[in-house]
Amino acid sequence: MCGISGIWSPADADPTEATRLMFFALYALQHRGQESAGIAATDGRDLRVVRRMGLVGQVFSEPDLAVLGGRAAIGHTRYSTTGSSRIQNAQPMVVNADIGELAIAHNGNCINARDLRDELAAQGVRFATSSDTEVVAQMIAAEDGATWDERIVRALPKLRGAWSLVMLTPTAVYAVRDPLGVRPLCLGRKGDAWLVASETCALDTIGAAFVRDVAPGEVLRIDDRGATGIADFAADRRGLCVFEHVYLASASSDLGGVSVYATRERMGETLAEEHPAAADVVIPVPDSAIPAAVGYARRSGIPFREGLIKNRYIGRTFIQPSPELRKQGVALKYNALRDVLQDKRVVVVDDSIVRGSTSAPIVDLLRGHGAREVHLRICSPPIRHQCFFGVDMARRDELIASHLDVEAIRRHVGADSLGYLSLDGMVRATGGTTGELCTACFTGDYLVPVQLELAKEALET
Ligand code: AMP
Repeated sequence: MCGISGIWSPADADPTEATRLMFFALYALQHRGQESAGIAATDGRDLRVVRRMGLVGQVFSEPDLAVLGGRAAIGHTRYSTTGSSRIQNAQPMVVNADIGELAIAHNGNCINARDLRDELAAQGVRFATSSDTEVVAQMIAAEDGATWDERIVRALPKLRGAWSLVMLTPTAVYAVRDPLGVRPLCLGRKGDAWLVASETCALDTIGAAFVRDVAPGEVLRIDDRGATGIADFAADRRGLCVFEHVYLASASSDLGGVSVYATRERMGETLAEEHPAAADVVIPVPDSAIPAAVGYARRSGIPFREGLIKNRYIGRTFIQPSPELRKQGVALKYNALRDVLQDKRVVVVDDSIVRGSTSAPIVDLLRGHGAREVHLRICSPPIRHQCFFGVDMARRDELIASHLDVEAIRRHVGADSLGYLSLDGMVRATGGTTGELCTACFTGDYLVPVQLELAKEALET
């Protein structure tokens, strides 16, 4: 996952405005990563970086923003896919080259990072982290070329996998998407400032206008001359991750010009057609499945109610629950409403089942609060294959649908019935076609050949 953003403001802008806007852009991208956050900024001479473990609101203080200053900045919220969750792997990362400094923030996963790192190590490059992002940064720094433009354009075709990148030098911001456009990235404007962000919700939060998506394979340089395309590596097909539509992106964002909320409503409507249920009430597992449950209720005619309330402040905590509290499981995260559930036949809608560890306690919680029947409806097909392109889902053997069929999963979670949205229904709801999306976690059809044994810690030494 991970959220990334970049900003280039005019020379006469308030010198703390860029980092202040970046802070709020990252705040809006918090859902894409809660492990660490960072901002790199420049005043045109050198780069300054603040990055720490924790949520955006915990990482930065007012004095940090003053120290960062600068008229241009990039930022990152991290959810690790390659490299473990520790401060050395937090981003943005900075490399020093003979032509100056470069800061980089990455959303995605480079599947040939191990090979590239071995090649660079053989040339004498030393690595400080286990992250594929450092490999990308060192590879660009080690390229031939008198300018960052040249080095970036030479280096990027060597990468395989998923990368949306923002980079910062003292004189420019760069924004890049991989040739398939697996991870989103969009361009916006606020007055004379240019912005890029993983999702449109970040532009809305800071009052910027959406200009367009950065195109798959596009390399943009943003500086006082504006946003200039300096290379185009587009593949002959597109491959936006369909799981962005299902779960990853904020419901308040648009993906490819289409509202994520509306897509999820359509998924819920199709789910109601494919898997109807005789029930009294439709409830979502909040927050991600709310629009899908709205769609299911509308199409089925069964009333929508909230039956589970999510603790909005749960985030990611470093305080481990005691063994006794751990037994409470999902009860730490959700409170159930007896008033809504008592003696009811309940349809509960969730976006996906990954490992299968959340659904059983949710079904228990609903029954424990009076539900007479529980019909579980899932707004995506069974996830049977590992993601190598930037979603930390699970290893293949940990995915419950890789070794159990739907009936066995139903028994495992203890529901009265279980229905998954079809692949075709999910893809249609996005308004796209399978030829424009990556659906590998459902189908096993990877758009770039992968080594199936590749693990998250592949670069750990
Ligand atoms: P589980 O089946 O217990 O692994 O959890 C599935 C739930 O976790 C889904 O309902 C999603 O809301 C959420 N989820 C899906 N994918 C991810 C992911 N990559 N990281 C964290 N949570 C996820």
